[in-house]
Amino acid sequence: MADVELRQVSRSFQNLKVVHDIDIDIAEGEFVVLVGPSGCGKSTTLRMVAGLDRPSGGEIHIGGRLVNNVQARDRDIAMVFQSYALYPQMTVAQNMAFGLRIRKVPDGEVTQRIARVADILDLSELLQRKPHQLSGGQRQRVAMGRAMVRQPKVFLFDEPLSNLDAKLRVKMRAEIKKLHQMVATTTVYVTHDQVEAMTLADRVVVMNKGRIEQIGPPNDLYHEPASRFVAGFIGSPG
Ligand code: ADP
Ligand code: MG
Repeated sequence: MADVELRQVSRSFQNLKVVHDIDIDIAEGEFVVLVGPSGCGKSTTLRMVAGLDRPSGGEIHIGGRLVNNVQARDRDIAMVFQSYALYPQMTVAQNMAFGLRIRKVPDGEVTQRIARVADILDLSELLQRKPHQLSGGQRQRVAMGRAMVRQPKVFLFDEPLSNLDAKLRVKMRAEIKKLHQMVATTTVYVTHDQVEAMTLADRVVVMNKGRIEQIGPPNDLYHEPASRFVAGFIGSPG
């Protein structure tokens, strides 16, 4: 059974449909990237999986459970945003602990999880700093750490690297890939950057104007694009 399942999911704003009855099945442990030009409906789709926005139609299942009426904090997901969204007045450790405390995870376990994740993400020396004392890359790692300590069934990323300079973006891309190989958590990752999509994804979902143009492994998209749009967007010769 799919870990994340979108069935005929749509979303309209003021009668304007921006996501058109899309179907996506994501297997446990899979890394799926939603890619497409700005405004094509990627964030709206991800926000519906997160529970930050409600579908106008269709069903979303996470871990086999229909979640249409389940609010964000009760879904087994953790999301990382472009803007990091760290609490500025809290230390790194407090930022990482926050989502666990509101879910009543015992103190001892909070400390343990933070130590383990900080070790993986190379944040151990930074736990007592405030966000303004960190570089962009470090802040983004804290945002990822905050998601990881939750040990969710699914990670959701919305353009997590877009605020970083090009060099750091390439480095962080490699780190995210390595991280996924370590923890193998099901991941839905949104980007407008086709290179990022092709490097990170097990399967890519190419979106255009609220519709899915093609779903497949990067290689298939490159060698057998289903449309001119996909060929043009991915930059394949076809
Ligand atoms: P992407 O993430 O691919 O850039 P979005 O999902 O953010 O695209 O937006 C898809 C479309 O929906 C855009 O035309 C956007 O203007 C519109 N949209 C998104 N959120 C809202 C909203 N809250 N109210 C009205 N229109 C919205
Ligand atoms: Mg977006």
